[in-house]
Amino acid sequence: MKRRDFLKKSALVTTASALVGCDVKVDFENLSSFKNGGLPIVISTWNHGVAANKVAMNIIKNGGNALDAVEAGVRVTESDPEMMSVGYGGLPDRDGHVTLDACIMDYTGNCGAVSYLQHIKNPISVARKVMEETPHVMLSGKGALDFALEKGFEMENLLTEKAENLWKEWLVTSQYKPIVNIENHDTIGLLAIDKKGNISGACTTSGLAWKLHGRVGDSPIIGAGMYVDNEIGGACATGVGELVMKTLGSFLIVELMRQGMNPQEACKEAVMRIVAKEEYNDMQVGYLAIDKNGNYGAYSIHPGFNFALHLGGENKMHDAESFVKS
Ligand code: ASP
Repeated sequence: MKRRDFLKKSALVTTASALVGCDVKVDFENLSSFKNGGLPIVISTWNHGVAANKVAMNIIKNGGNALDAVEAGVRVTESDPEMMSVGYGGLPDRDGHVTLDACIMDYTGNCGAVSYLQHIKNPISVARKVMEETPHVMLSGKGALDFALEKGFEMENLLTEKAENLWKEWLVTSQYKPIVNIENHDTIGLLAIDKKGNISGACTTSGLAWKLHGRVGDSPIIGAGMYVDNEIGGACATGVGELVMKTLGSFLIVELMRQGMNPQEACKEAVMRIVAKEEYNDMQVGYLAIDKNGNYGAYSIHPGFNFALHLGGENKMHDAESFVKS
């Protein structure tokens, strides 16, 4: 992320905080403008989702399954050094270490995850190996790294010069407390339904920039950062992971859909659970959800959350509705 973009986003934080402090226009009644979908479908968080969706949808179009599609999709973002919030090139923690979190879940209910993984460019593929080749759901830290190396993954330096320079800039004014606000996150969460109607999901991140060393967010936690249930649909999250973890947002959304909400209503309700309890002034959380029929929804605390939707031959960005109105 360029310094210019940081400044632009910081301005957005200030504006949003100022709005929350005074006369905020909150739309409690608003339902979906994005609820009618179709199949197959690929949906993912933020601008980097367009490139990821494209790869995922190609697999599906060629008869591939949703699990292969979600893995291949998010690998694009993980491998891109320009994406400074996911995988290679991700911004480091406050001590200068790039530590990665990821999870994957398939249409049979199997899942795998890695957390606090260093030196491996594609944590999503390690998560898949955890799912398929161990009796466990999550491996963490050195154990996850050892497992990855055993499985033939290559150890690499993930801290790019650009990320290192931004970290050094941050060090100049850093406080001990990590900054957790709108400007330093952009996880990719990606959900897909293939031609057979099967759903899978993937979520991968370098976590909050400048986080405390050892911090793990929502992204590798099944049910927090991502969750799918082949009978119902799926959901994924981005933003301040601590808020998502406290409400187990993705699982909550799937359960709300099970009870009859559409994806948009369910995403909104999950955001409402956060804002009812938390100081959200400079905290962003965004949710995406799809149901089994390919209907979709997106909702965030603050404006600015967007998502890429590949549906009906089009792969386009959309802005999510938000609790705080701009
Ligand atoms: N949810 C991620 C985390 O808390 C951050 C993000 O969305 O970028 O680690």
